[in-house]
Amino acid sequence: MERIAFFDARSYDRTYFDRLSPGAGLELFYLENKLTPDTAVLAQNASAVCAFVNDDLGKETLPLLAKYGVRAIALRCAGYNNVDLKTAAKYGIRVFRVPAYSPASVAEHALALLLTLTRQTHRAFTRTRERNFSLEGLVGTNIEGKCVGVIGTGKVGMRFAAMVQGLGAKVYAYDPKPVWGAGVEYVGLNELIRQADVLSLHCPLTPSTYHLLNRDAFCAMKDGVILLNTSRGALIDSEALLDHIKSGKVGAAGLDVYEEEADIFYEDVSGKVMRDDTLNLLLSQPNVLVTSHQAFLTKEALEAIAKTTVENLRKFFAGETVENELTAGRP
Ligand code: NAD
Repeated sequence: MERIAFFDARSYDRTYFDRLSPGAGLELFYLENKLTPDTAVLAQNASAVCAFVNDDLGKETLPLLAKYGVRAIALRCAGYNNVDLKTAAKYGIRVFRVPAYSPASVAEHALALLLTLTRQTHRAFTRTRERNFSLEGLVGTNIEGKCVGVIGTGKVGMRFAAMVQGLGAKVYAYDPKPVWGAGVEYVGLNELIRQADVLSLHCPLTPSTYHLLNRDAFCAMKDGVILLNTSRGALIDSEALLDHIKSGKVGAAGLDVYEEEADIFYEDVSGKVMRDDTLNLLLSQPNVLVTSHQAFLTKEALEAIAKTTVENLRKFFAGETVENELTAGRP
């Protein structure tokens, strides 16, 4: 049996991994800690680690993992912005990911955020529980006839585009690698930002997409634009977003990710003082809906994630080619 240190483990992970790992010759030991340079020592005696979106796989952590004998990292997610692939290669650590598990789960969550915000069901929910049946302040907006801008037309972006097209929206898309003939109209990024009533982010976080939506981009947006981010927090300059929420330029924001989420999301910090004032102020607005990086969290996606992660590790230890391997030098 190969021992795998499973960082940032939650009960919902164990349901599927416990079922699949013994058959693949893997013995998982679950750690609630996030992987950081300080917790890397917990991977001692493990041949591989299994890591998630907010685990730190940077320049400091990787040499420590190598020192403790870790030969592989199995990411149980698609994004890999938290991994320094060059350093991993330097220390001979192989890195695998789950490139696709359930694009529908993420796209449906983006749609859930959108419809909640346009119909204010989050506010209606709390009102009616208090026996307040007034409709004052709950006027919504139709998606039908609106222009939805999709940034990134990969697996999730395309799903989301099809969903809002089904609601009667016109979709404009931007992607440096457009998929012609896929039923969306591609325009330049600046034009998309200018035209969109709803802007939804579905591109990866890379050095070139960091703060893709910065102050200039916010200034160019339509008044009252609805912003959705189910990709990665640092695609948006959060302070600029807050300023434009306050000014009314941004009509609503649905955020499943946040650029400083690493120490907050997935944790219960309800009894603690939260020092991040940008997040505090965003959370206090009625037209901002924050979910805790949960767009992936469906039964179907969890099962698919566990299947691919376990299979990646099984193949690695069997000396087989792992199609889902990441190599340094990728964009
Ligand atoms: P994908 O690789 O299939 O698609 C990403 C698309 O973005 C590609 O078409 C690519 O060409 C495009 N792209 C790259 N750079 C761009 C840029 N500068 N501007 C516009 N488009 C650009 O990925 P996917 O499976 O569709 O996932 C999209 C993103 O969703 C991932 O990068 C990940 O960060 C995020 N994600 C979030 C969750 C969650 O739980 N919130 C879960 C899974 C994935």
